[in-house]
Amino acid sequence: MALFLVDPATGEWTRGDLAVPVLAADDLAATRGDGIFEAALVRGGEIRALDLHLERFRTSARRLDLGGASPEVWRPALLGALAEIGDQEEDFSIRWFLTRGREGDGIAQGWIITGRVPESTLREREHGISVLTLPRGYAAGLAGDAPWLLIGVKSLSYATALAATRFAAAHGAEDAIYVTTDGFVLEAPRSNVVIARGRELLTPDPAIGLLHGTTQRFLFERARAAGWECRYTRLRVEDLHAADAVWLVSSLRMAVRVHHLNGTRLRESPEADAAMAEFLA
Ligand code: PLP
Repeated sequence: MALFLVDPATGEWTRGDLAVPVLAADDLAATRGDGIFEAALVRGGEIRALDLHLERFRTSARRLDLGGASPEVWRPALLGALAEIGDQEEDFSIRWFLTRGREGDGIAQGWIITGRVPESTLREREHGISVLTLPRGYAAGLAGDAPWLLIGVKSLSYATALAATRFAAAHGAEDAIYVTTDGFVLEAPRSNVVIARGRELLTPDPAIGLLHGTTQRFLFERARAAGWECRYTRLRVEDLHAADAVWLVSSLRMAVRVHHLNGTRLRESPEADAAMAEFLA
């Protein structure tokens, strides 16, 4: 693991010491989860979908009225951090963070952490996972009417996401898929849902209230180039049961196949899995 400290006002960055704390005890990220982050995959020396991550980082900051998230600051810092680390054979993660600063001073804090892809994620990529659907507590389309809920923002407030995953684990599954109160599939606590139907890939429309994933967008671009139909739509849980394959996709997971949903085995498609692996390779 390596740490880099970034001044979001100037873009200056330096290597940090992991043993030295980055945040003051009253930083609003620590006391309120008031900040944003991004997590990306580094493969072959490149940050995958960097432009999409930088764009989303800026959008998240705008939604929180937070300064210091411009790509002009973060791109050089991220590329500088990568150059410092040098060539690595294995995939690794790069995460970057921006907080509102200490209570009362408003001086934003930024940092970058690089690290290994967790073993558990590598296992999920290989073996797939079982998933439980959980109610999200809002209806499709609420995001626009209730911007304060920060639906679709990659904020640092992930306690409910972690709680949902723990709840799923306590009930014999490995992850959750959220469903709206009116019955539409949203996303997983830390991944997007993609299904295959023949040579078509479908994902829930972000406009109904979820985080627009960089992996899903990267995937759709590659799949379209290979002649697949790719669409944003509204899906119900029955659509997942009827699909040829269901995956959870995210930067570090890439595509993890869902083999059981609410205890029922889902269909398998070696062809769809092979296509998915090729698109995300
Ligand atoms: N949805 C949520 C709630 C997430 O937290 C994430 C990633 O962390 C995703 C979707 C997938 O996004 P990405 O593919 O950009 O990693």
